[in-house]
Amino acid sequence: ACTTESVADALRAAASVVAEHRTELIELDRAIGDADHGENLNRGFTAIVTAIETVPETPGAVLKTAATTLISKVGGAAGPLYGTAFLRAAAKLGDRSEVDAEAVVELLAAALEGVQARGKAEAGDATMVDALLPAVEAARGAVADGVAAVLTAAADAADRGTESTVDMVPRKGRASYLGERAVGHVDPGARSTALVLRALAEAAK
Ligand code: ADP
Ligand code: MG
Ligand code: MG
Repeated sequence: ACTTESVADALRAAASVVAEHRTELIELDRAIGDADHGENLNRGFTAIVTAIETVPETPGAVLKTAATTLISKVGGAAGPLYGTAFLRAAAKLGDRSEVDAEAVVELLAAALEGVQARGKAEAGDATMVDALLPAVEAARGAVADGVAAVLTAAADAADRGTESTVDMVPRKGRASYLGERAVGHVDPGARSTALVLRALAEAAK
């Protein structure tokens, strides 16, 4: 099971991965949006690292700090959506002191619910939901195998989900303005979701 410190470390790892992929995410967003997704997320995760320098008391409090940081520092579509995901995940953890595999599945499911409540995207709309929804399903299937296995299954499914956005006609967010012209491109928010899940999975190993 994960302690508060390991949850904070996992977020630091996610911040590094987002920074490494900043340009890639910008280029994905340039093709079908406004070329800011890498910058938006990098700003948000860099601010998270600063905000958790003094590590909050519980895993839930770490995620709550991440959520409020994302909501206050990241504009556009992704800021509030990522922020809501972390906020719902934090609420699901409450004040428990450790996060086991079952809790990870629950917090991922809560994150997905938050994203869908806020953004109203369904599977197949070419958004981050197409990474997160299969990730939650795969996570459920790995719950008996521990935290690292749950997150690895989630990241693997999110990678496949991200790839599947190439063939979709976007129905939400800026890319939806392009309609059919957006077909053939990976959704930036799906890609960033998969990257973050992979970073969390690697950190849990
Ligand atoms: P903006 O589009 O405002 O510039 P970003 O570029 O940071 O914001 O984020 C774009 C990403 O946000 C998209 O690639 C998509 O994955 C996600 N997104 C946009 N609208 C929605 C929505 N309604 N539901 C879920 N995800 C969405
Ligand atoms: Mg954008
Ligand atoms: Mg923008």
